[in-house]
Amino acid sequence: MARLEIEHLVPLSKGGTNEELNLWLACPLCNGHKANQTEAVDPETGQIVPLFNPRTQIWHEHFSWNEGGLKIVGNTPTGRATVIALHLADDPDALLVRSFWIQAGWHPPEK
Ligand SMILES: [Zn+2]
Repeated sequence: MARLEIEHLVPLSKGGTNEELNLWLACPLCNGHKANQTEAVDPETGQIVPLFNPRTQIWHEHFSWNEGGLKIVGNTPTGRATVIALHLADDPDALLVRSFWIQAGWHPPEK
């Protein structure tokens, strides 16, 4: 992949700050898809919900891996909306890289 980027969870354009609590390391694919979004539509309910915040929420409470580990599955409104908004389960480059990790035995991570 590429070098990780420092991402603003709440974008500066929406009043976010440069404080550590608002920063996260993201790959360029996810960061590009997220852009300045902080919420997105839950495809199951049609409701607009907050995107997953890795500073304040726990990954396993919102996501899991499908069988084989190729795709991330959203299990809550926030999880489902984040999977769609950041293209976590359908970005072809991310899926390709993840498939190599699976072949190498590095993925999916054990709990
Ligand atoms: Zn990513």
